[in-house]
Amino acid sequence: MRNSHSRPGAAIPAALAVAAGLLLGACSTDGVLSLRPEANVGDSGSAAPARGLQRLVPSDPMMVGFPRWNPPAEPTATMPAAEVACRRNLKRLDVKFRNLAPIDDGGACRVDWPVEVSAINGVEMKPAATLSCAMAETFSRWTRSELQPAARWRYLSGVKTIHQGSSYSCRNIRGSGRPSQHSLGNALDVMRIELKNGRDIDVRKPGWFAFRERGFLNSVRSDGCGHFNTVLGPGYDADHADHFHFDIMPRKNGAVACR
Ligand SMILES: [Zn+2]
Repeated sequence: MRNSHSRPGAAIPAALAVAAGLLLGACSTDGVLSLRPEANVGDSGSAAPARGLQRLVPSDPMMVGFPRWNPPAEPTATMPAAEVACRRNLKRLDVKFRNLAPIDDGGACRVDWPVEVSAINGVEMKPAATLSCAMAETFSRWTRSELQPAARWRYLSGVKTIHQGSSYSCRNIRGSGRPSQHSLGNALDVMRIELKNGRDIDVRKPGWFAFRERGFLNSVRSDGCGHFNTVLGPGYDADHADHFHFDIMPRKNGAVACR
C-alpha cells in the first residue's frame, strides 16, 4: 500500500490510450488493422503474414519447453528457388521433415520458410526441431558425416536419437540486446546423444575417467567447426555447460567461432 497514491496517476495515460484506441476503431474502418502489433517485416517481404494464433504462443525464454503450435505450411504459398533446392537436398540426405507455416513473433523473431525435422538418416530428433531449411541441411550433413561415423568408430554403434534442448526460440543472446540465432531458426542445442546399444552420451562435461565420452564429444564438436559458423559447448561459459550450441550465423570473412 506504500505506493497507493502513485497508481491513479499512472492509470490515467493508460485509460487515455485505451480510449484513443477505441476512438480510432470507431471512426475509421481500418482502425482494426492499425491496432496490429508492428512486426519487422524486413526486406524479403515474401512470406505470408503469420496467422493470429502464432502470436499467442509464449516466446519467453523461460517457456522453451512449452509445446509450440506448429501449423503446416499453406500449399498455395510460392516458395523461393533456394528453399525448393534446400528441400530437395533434405530428401537426398534422408531427412524426415514437414514444412511449417511462416513464423513471425515480432522483432527479429521470424522464419519465413521453417521446417520441422523429426529424423535424419535414421536418427530420431527428439523433440522434432523447428529450423530454417539452411540450418536443417547443415545439421543433417554434420549428423551424417561426423556424428554417425564418430559413434560407429568409437562405440561400434549407430546413433538412435539426438535429444535437442532448443531449436527455434524467440530470444536474445543472454546479457546482450542482440537476437540469438535461435530467433531465426538458425541454431540448435544438443543435450544428449543416445546410441543404439543403449548408451547415453550426455554433453555435460564427463569426468576425467570417461576417456571415450570425452574423445567422442571433442571430436564431434571440433568436426562441427567445418560445418557450422558457431560451435559452443561445455568449457566455454556457464550457459553452455550442459549442451552444444550449433548455429550458422554468417560472419565477416567467413570466420568461425569454435569454443
Ligand atoms: Zn543455443
